Amino acid sequence: MSNSKLKNTLWSLPVALLAAPAVLAQGQQDFSQVQIKVHQVSGNVYYLEGQGGNVGVLVGDDGVLMIDDQFAPLSEKLVAAIRTISNKPIRMLVNTHVHGDHTGGNENFGKMGIDIIAHDNVRVRLARGVNGGAASPAVALPVVTFGDTMSLHLNGETLTVGKLPPAHTDGDSYIRFANADVIHAGDVFRTVGYPGVDGNNGGTVKGTIDALQALVDLAGPNTKILPGHGVVSTREDVAAFRANTIEAQRRVNELIKQGMTLEQVVAANPTADLATKFATSGPPPDDAATLRFLTGFYNALKSEL
Ligand SMILES: [Zn+2]
Repeated sequence: MSNSKLKNTLWSLPVALLAAPAVLAQGQQDFSQVQIKVHQVSGNVYYLEGQGGNVGVLVGDDGVLMIDDQFAPLSEKLVAAIRTISNKPIRMLVNTHVHGDHTGGNENFGKMGIDIIAHDNVRVRLARGVNGGAASPAVALPVVTFGDTMSLHLNGETLTVGKLPPAHTDGDSYIRFANADVIHAGDVFRTVGYPGVDGNNGGTVKGTIDALQALVDLAGPNTKILPGHGVVSTREDVAAFRANTIEAQRRVNELIKQGMTLEQVVAANPTADLATKFATSGPPPDDAATLRFLTGFYNALKSEL
């Protein structure tokens, strides 16, 4: 597993394994080779692929809106990539959830005077410090927070930023672009691996299944769904991901009811055949990813039974 891949998935390790917060220090990862690729999703909606979560971008005469901001060392590269599609000021930044590969640039963008927007729980968790990490400075915190849904109006577009059930975390938001017919799903949906349930940050399996259904209900037949990680997908792709999540839930629950420990469930690897169904883009999950997934799922399901 590459260092960068490890970094991206560290959030889901059991807390005990994160006893040394230094593991998360950004200095350990070399971002110098990361290149930002610009992809058009639809109309004036784009996404930036670099290291970390997909960055949604809305451009137009009113200015630029960003969704998520990857890691702090990449902020300048992200701005440079945005400059290839717009020369207007960056005005707003929405965080889909609290994880560092989506909020790592907040301090840099906050210092540029860009208004950061997120669900209430994202601000609370960033202010407290995530997974034992340092508290975010005030400038990195969302200045606009919401509880249920809010609307943004710029560039002729109407955006709905809405809370999803506690799925990947307890601060997951979707961002829906009504005119472009695009939804940024954050990490509730991804095409590069298993569903991620971060119980330490309020995520649940039941909420994941409900949130995926909410995304399916929000989408139309032609809606382009941008995952937190991976490639632009369809409503059917999200529905399939949900069905596989339900099947994984059923299988792990069965083993829990049989009294299996986490170690026994990991040894049984009950979701082996689902791995490539979840990861429809990129390489199949490796053993470490499977271990993290089963650990997160097992712990969440034990508390949900
Ligand atoms: Zn995440």
